[in-house]
Amino acid sequence: MGWPNLHAITDALATRLLFDNRRATGLEFRRNGQTQTVKARGEVILCAGVFGSPHLLKLSGIGPAEELSRQGIPVIADLPQVGENLQDHIDFVMNYRTSSTESVGYGLRGGWHLLSEAIKWWRTGEGLCATPAAEAGGFLKSHPDIDVPDLQFHFTAGLVDDHSRKLHWGYGYSAHVCVLRPHSRGSVTLRSAQATDAPRIDPRYLSDERDAQKLRRGVEMLQMIMRASPFDAYDKGEIHGHDRMQGGELMDAIRNRADTIYHPVGTCRMGRDADAVVDPMLRLRNIENIRIVDASVMPTLIGGNTNAPTVMMAEKIAGEMKYHL
Ligand SMILES: Cc1cc2nc3c(=O)[nH]c(=O)nc-3n(C[C@H](O)[C@H](O)[C@H](O)COP(=O)(O)OP(=O)(O)OC[C@H]3O[C@@H](n4cnc5c(N)ncnc54)[C@H](O)[C@@H]3O)c2cc1C
Repeated sequence: MGWPNLHAITDALATRLLFDNRRATGLEFRRNGQTQTVKARGEVILCAGVFGSPHLLKLSGIGPAEELSRQGIPVIADLPQVGENLQDHIDFVMNYRTSSTESVGYGLRGGWHLLSEAIKWWRTGEGLCATPAAEAGGFLKSHPDIDVPDLQFHFTAGLVDDHSRKLHWGYGYSAHVCVLRPHSRGSVTLRSAQATDAPRIDPRYLSDERDAQKLRRGVEMLQMIMRASPFDAYDKGEIHGHDRMQGGELMDAIRNRADTIYHPVGTCRMGRDADAVVDPMLRLRNIENIRIVDASVMPTLIGGNTNAPTVMMAEKIAGEMKYHL
């Protein structure tokens, strides 16, 4: 990027944070089969994300003492909440077939249409190929008495089945609903003391019955929306029959198929209480000279997408650090 004060090392795996007693001093990493270290002149900023940050802390001796000892990792600070409090937006999606080639899909009929749309996009930047995938969305209350929306809807102009891992021949559209402020809590724990072993992620989705009931209410509302007359000309049936399911059958489908919509937070929880992992200025508790600045510090999940709030937190802390330079 040509910034004299920025040196980025790519294709590297951070393996351990380095400490001098309880002061963070740098980082150990692996690159091209070599172990290297980098020393910090100023503060160490950890931003490895909701899964990476607690993983790296634990590998470095910061986390629940019992879990670290089981893996033979010397304990620098016993912080039981590291890796706990994992929250995510649990989502259910319905996939509708359509005979219209206006959506993104696979088929001979739509091939020509897609090609002409690609040319249009190349010339004008507009049309089908300019789709952001999630074309529309909305926030609704599961019950009129609550203060703020607790359900979020996404509409995509294509068939999104199993995160698009499962492809379907033909055309369609999809409608998602997710629970915005879930009660279920998961965890990120060590599989081993090796940084190359990914951590064990247990989201414990729908482990709190309130989330399951709320998601069911959301799916019922979504079924109603998708039955509205403007869809009559397009709707050729939901692939899995979810649009007609009710009661126990619907709840089984939700429990079997609901999955992430990619907004995990909370595994290095911020707070003023003694159990919090970081303080309100995102400084790691009981350790000097290190902050965590990523989505892992959010104590609870926000009622919307998580990217912009994460950038906002980083901007705030960057401002704070600049002020004290
Ligand atoms: C498929 C997908 C779609 C999404 N869509 C949206 C959306 O539409 N809108 C929205 O608001 N949010 C969206 N999100 C969520 C958003 O991307 C996250 O909330 C945001 O990126 C969180 O930022 P972060 O800095 O906490 O972590 P990340 O962006 O995950 O950054 C952490 C980085 O650390 C690196 N890392 C971790 N461990 C190590 C290690 N040991 N060594 C070296 N590097 C390491 C990771 O590779 C990663 O690059 C989406 C997420 C996904 C996965």
